[in-house]
Amino acid sequence: MPTICFETLGCKVNQYDTDRMIADFRQRGFEVIRDGSAADVYVVNSCAVTSMAEAKSRRHVRRLANRAHQPTVILTGCSVDMAIRTGYPIDDATLVVSNAEKATIVERLLALRPDLAPESNVGCEVIPYEEIRRTRAVVKVQEGCDVNCTYCSVPFTRGSPRSRPIREVVDEVRQCLDRGQPEIVLAGILLGSYTDDCAPVPRDITDLVEAVSDVQGVRRVRLSSIEPMHITDTLLELMQCRPTVCPHLHIPLQSGDDEVLRAMGRPYTRRQYIDLCGKAQSLIPDLAITTDVLVGFPGESEAAHTRTLETIREVGFSRLHVFRYSKRAGTPAAEMSEQISDDVKVQRSSVTTALGRSLQEAYATRFLHRTMPVIVEGPEQEDGYRSGYTANYMRVRFPCTPIPPGSEVNVRLATVQGGVIEGQLDAAPSPLGVV
Ligand code: SF4
Repeated sequence: MPTICFETLGCKVNQYDTDRMIADFRQRGFEVIRDGSAADVYVVNSCAVTSMAEAKSRRHVRRLANRAHQPTVILTGCSVDMAIRTGYPIDDATLVVSNAEKATIVERLLALRPDLAPESNVGCEVIPYEEIRRTRAVVKVQEGCDVNCTYCSVPFTRGSPRSRPIREVVDEVRQCLDRGQPEIVLAGILLGSYTDDCAPVPRDITDLVEAVSDVQGVRRVRLSSIEPMHITDTLLELMQCRPTVCPHLHIPLQSGDDEVLRAMGRPYTRRQYIDLCGKAQSLIPDLAITTDVLVGFPGESEAAHTRTLETIREVGFSRLHVFRYSKRAGTPAAEMSEQISDDVKVQRSSVTTALGRSLQEAYATRFLHRTMPVIVEGPEQEDGYRSGYTANYMRVRFPCTPIPPGSEVNVRLATVQGGVIEGQLDAAPSPLGVV
């Protein structure tokens, strides 16, 4: 049986694409293995959101192509679409497959390597091992973006927005539940633009969340990321009244300075963003708000950077993802004057990351001595601990005897140190807001 190994970089949408490709290869009789042994084929599902991510994707391909057993290396994902657009050569991969061609990746490989075609397709049930490993099922419901932020290459690599019909999503959610995945993460590039045009009356992201949370057996529904302009009162009200909808919103901020936001093409102001978060926090108890921050955008002054830090403190995020701006070919920001030096970007990034860590710890501290439901992930660790996530996206470690991944346990949170939260199993969760 031919063997294949996947490496995935980047966002949840890419993770989902990898799961689909794994399913396709398994169905065609390939054995999907983890890295460590010599696979016949490697697939690097790449990312190009920053120049660093793109360089890392290429390094992976080079490293794999240089292995002594000379495997076939397929490069797919956003760095392929970027290379097509910019004419940047891709030398090391045996085969390159764009995002749009991912659905035909098996045929593309077998056309090149017919010797890898299994003698007969194995009639096994299609269960991607990546999905078995995770208790959170990522379900892609939307693709593409047309916001055209001036720094971003995603609209080139992922195309215009399009959505899957609700009934198709609900069918996939049922399959995830059958595989023992009780938490559903709805993912999309511009998730909040979700529209089911096939329904008699167009249905939006709130309708989708409601439909998924109505599926019997779903214990949690989480949104992967949603832009501030797509967060409506109706969505917040749904989150407020449905216990299965996680009290967690990932709302990209990018900058807390109005001038920088304007130059980025982000359609909101600092004040609108802060007010939106304040409204959400007052409606939804224990809400976790996580975000992305882009430092070192062209023209970002020291004062603008300080305003971003103030905004971050004012909102009180529970987690930050900090990115350093890098030029993306073909974007307006790449041509802007006043590019920021790498030294300044590194310095701003480390200050922002440090602030993020302290806010993460402060947020977690609010929940100490509370008992919270945790969905157990992965196998027992060597030190006898297990870990999992609370509904408000805190990773918690606790000592525990064997219990299957996907089980829900109640954990009384005891300590938080260096971002690691530890607790003990407990009988029942504390009522919301009660210590
Ligand atoms: S919203 Fe902006 S940053 Fe996000 S994918 Fe679209 S263009 Fe890129």
